[in-house]
Amino acid sequence: MSKKLTKRSEDYSKWYNELVVKADLAENSAVRGCMVIKPYGYAIWEKMQAELDRMFKETGHQNAYFPLFVPKSLFEAEEKNAEGFAKECAVVTHYRLQNDPERPGKLRVDPQAKLEEELVVRPTSEAIIWSTYKNWIQSYRDLPILVNQWANVVRWEMRTRLFLRTAEFLWQEGHTAHATKEEALAEAEQMNDVYAEFAENFMAIPVVKGVKTESERFAGAEETYCIEALMQDGKALQAGTSHFLGQNFAKAFDVKFATKEGKQEYVWATSWGVSTRLMGALVMTHSDDNGLVLPPNLAPIQVVIVPIYKGDEQLAQISEVANEIVRDLRAKGISVKFDDRDTHKPGFKFNEYELKGVPVRIAIGPKDLEKGTVEIARRDTLEKQFVAKTEIVETIVQLMSDIQSNLHKKAFDFRNAHITEVNDFDEFKEVLEAKGGFLLAHWDGTVETEDKIKELTKATIRCIPLDAKEEEGVCVYSGKPSNKRVLFAKAY
Ligand code: AMP
Repeated sequence: MSKKLTKRSEDYSKWYNELVVKADLAENSAVRGCMVIKPYGYAIWEKMQAELDRMFKETGHQNAYFPLFVPKSLFEAEEKNAEGFAKECAVVTHYRLQNDPERPGKLRVDPQAKLEEELVVRPTSEAIIWSTYKNWIQSYRDLPILVNQWANVVRWEMRTRLFLRTAEFLWQEGHTAHATKEEALAEAEQMNDVYAEFAENFMAIPVVKGVKTESERFAGAEETYCIEALMQDGKALQAGTSHFLGQNFAKAFDVKFATKEGKQEYVWATSWGVSTRLMGALVMTHSDDNGLVLPPNLAPIQVVIVPIYKGDEQLAQISEVANEIVRDLRAKGISVKFDDRDTHKPGFKFNEYELKGVPVRIAIGPKDLEKGTVEIARRDTLEKQFVAKTEIVETIVQLMSDIQSNLHKKAFDFRNAHITEVNDFDEFKEVLEAKGGFLLAHWDGTVETEDKIKELTKATIRCIPLDAKEEEGVCVYSGKPSNKRVLFAKAY
């Protein structure tokens, strides 16, 4: 195995970049800002997808698929949304290449093949979807529409990082249509809850649920709900968003429905999404200086068995035991790999699975055969124990849930230890520099103050927590009155 990872304490950002590549999750590509997600990374994403998809369907949603391209005239229909995304749009202007007469063997854009109307590569799909919903919705009987799509989108980001911020990323986007404001608001909140539940229970990532301030809101939304997570370096990461879109898109695309009483009304909308950024959240919440640490729920390989042997005969004996374990664990729904490659030494394999975050490793050597035991090592704590053959399945099943909850607890304790209430601007700056993390502070509710604080400290308002208590106070910056604390942090 190539040389060790940079330590987190030395250079967190370098550690992250190295880990993503060395653990075989993803790598940079020939296209600036776009990544290649490698099979091991994609397997984790697939597990996220499967669980989210299940949760979406359980809450009544169905999947559909809409085009990658949005005609510019549709894109610009909802003005705020268009303006918000305009600077990040890739645009198709031509539909053909031809031989370049000046450079033999090379191609150029065919000037004759200019599109009459340019096509925007979707940065988000409200426009194309609402132009379609116009045809789907006539009466209250057609509502609600509860649709999700799994897709790629393109946002021409200037500063990109693998998974965290890429120019093309994979995501799901839910787009729902409702007869009433109350129903749409409840949907937006419900899906934010689904994201929170997924992050907590499946990814073992504690999150704060809240709403965005006006300046951090999705372009075209009336309210943006979000989940915010804290990474190990004390920076926050927006892990998911769910938007209440009001009637903005219905008005832009003239989508009305006949109510029970026969009146014509505009439809209410939501949209919600999580992306491959969650992979970055996963890495930066649980992993350590030895590599990736995966919660069992998301690990493509939950248990790996490594034989320690000399010669074919010993391998055959160990394989017999190993295959039995594989069969028994699979019967319990646990994914197991028996790595009997004879091209690599056990030490190499140990390192590889540690780097890749496999939750549990079983090692079986000749001594174990004699004693009827195996060595079980857990990735999260690096603890090892010897276990009798008869108790392996029980031990592993227990470990799966122990590791899952231990990772959550560790992240939860870390997060809570990094939420600090601050009461004036000096304290704000001090804590931000010395400790980082989330700062709970009073804010006067104005964009000016928010901007000023950002300019002076790089900290932004991550959210107004949904569970924020009413509390009289004064804004940390302006001294003006405020009735609740909001959550500030430096963010990815
Ligand atoms: P939005 O449509 O802006 O609310 O974003 C939906 C989800 O995608 C949020 O969870 C964002 O954190 C995430 N996201 C936004 N931009 C990017 C990007 N460039 N790369 C990866 N994820 C992103």
